[in-house]
Amino acid sequence: MSKGITSRETDYSQWYNELVVKADLAEHSAVRGCMVIKPYGYAIWEKMQAALDKMFKDTGHSNAYFPLFIPKSFFSKEASHVEGFATECAVVTHYRLKNDGTGNIVVDEEAKLEEELIVRPTSETIIWNTYKGWIESYRDLPILVNQWANVVRWEMRTRLFLRTAEFLWQEGHTAHATKEEALAEAEQMLNVYADFAENWLALPVIRGRKTENERFAGALDTLCIEALMQDGKALQAGTSHFLGQNFAKAFDVKFTAKDGKLDYVWATSWGVSTRLMGALIMAHSDDQGLVLPPKLAPIQVVIVPIFKTEEEQMAIGALADTLISELKSKGISIKYDDRDTHRPGFKFAEWELKGVPVRIAVGTRDMQQGTVEIARRDTQAKETVSQAGLADRVEQLLIDIQQQIYNKAAAFREANTVSVDTYEEFKRVLEEEGGFVAAHWDGTRETEQLIKEETKATIRCIPLNNPLEQGTCVRTGKPSIQRVLFARAY
Ligand code: AMP
Repeated sequence: MSKGITSRETDYSQWYNELVVKADLAEHSAVRGCMVIKPYGYAIWEKMQAALDKMFKDTGHSNAYFPLFIPKSFFSKEASHVEGFATECAVVTHYRLKNDGTGNIVVDEEAKLEEELIVRPTSETIIWNTYKGWIESYRDLPILVNQWANVVRWEMRTRLFLRTAEFLWQEGHTAHATKEEALAEAEQMLNVYADFAENWLALPVIRGRKTENERFAGALDTLCIEALMQDGKALQAGTSHFLGQNFAKAFDVKFTAKDGKLDYVWATSWGVSTRLMGALIMAHSDDQGLVLPPKLAPIQVVIVPIFKTEEEQMAIGALADTLISELKSKGISIKYDDRDTHRPGFKFAEWELKGVPVRIAVGTRDMQQGTVEIARRDTQAKETVSQAGLADRVEQLLIDIQQQIYNKAAAFREANTVSVDTYEEFKRVLEEEGGFVAAHWDGTRETEQLIKEETKATIRCIPLNNPLEQGTCVRTGKPSIQRVLFARAY
């Protein structure tokens, strides 16, 4: 393939791995399952963080920070929580190394921790242990806190961004006086995530509810946003949990209500991670490289001068200066690539690989005619336009590209969501087409498990506001009241 990326059709998974590395987003590290996020990849993550952080603050949340380590005993306090996370915990047992006398550095067995520490896979336990000291009465509620942090889950099968042993995320942890308030918070944050996915990542998502099988360990209800990748596999892009009073009971966090009665506090938690980087890449990119929605692109416009002589370079440079200041004043980020070490064709391919939404090329003939060539990354359409009014045109183009990328992903999802009524059809669609399969299910854990074993498809979610519809389960033929969304997933 051109530029050495495997095509999506040849091997989607290989395409993804190569793209992440070649576009300079991230690479594998010396530590199994852990990645190095490179500056270009991190710049995208920072833009995601900034947008999300603002949305959290606009909905009344503040940031705080809690320890990386959690005493092991905290985990055992909430039974289903520990059960869910036990198999993927990194545990700190010692706090010192020593020289064994032969030059080898070994763990000093005398420096054993009295109580082992878990490297946080999620922070509900340490946070609820802390909230106990913060909450006495209804006046102390609600607590609306978010933390930006890294967490560790000892995943066996890892994949850059999508599933790593250490990942970056944000985790919101809120405390409320009533069940209704906590439920409303969990739903509000799901909507924030959906809004972010659609308006920033240009990624259409389905808002839904997880089944009992797929619920967060310790939650009474897990809401999620689910997206479809170009290979027809689904990706869980964010979760928002209603935790009921489970953690308040485990950590004995009570409050005095207005009427003077003591009650346990109600909780939510919600998170999105660097997995969103994987979603962004997999949903939009093509065989030439990344396709970034303009709102998250670290460089939104690249200007490539095409010159032979120094005079030509100077003249184009002067035009570029004007253009750059006009675009910058509109808040658009620009790169002027006048490296004389690379040919224009090489630069074009490089910026395509890196997903820069708009490329402007200016050559000598353009200088004579008062034009430039604009190329958009998403459709690869090129157009020669006048230099006059260019900044306005580019500004509008960035808006159009953002919308077009969303529309394309939405059309893809639409085309890859089908309703089926028999198990044969169910299996055939999963095998031959992928995508979301809307099918009747009898509502039991056992049937869900059976279907997973037989087809590798899981119930991604029960969409919110799902229409009720009488039917029979595709697997067991038992009565069902609604279709749920199945898919093979990352
Ligand atoms: P959870 O706490 O399990 O609800 O997960 C919170 C968020 O982190 C979800 O959006 C998950 O998709 C994401 N996530 C879970 N495990 C991983 C992982 N190993 N790597 C990257 N993201 C993850």
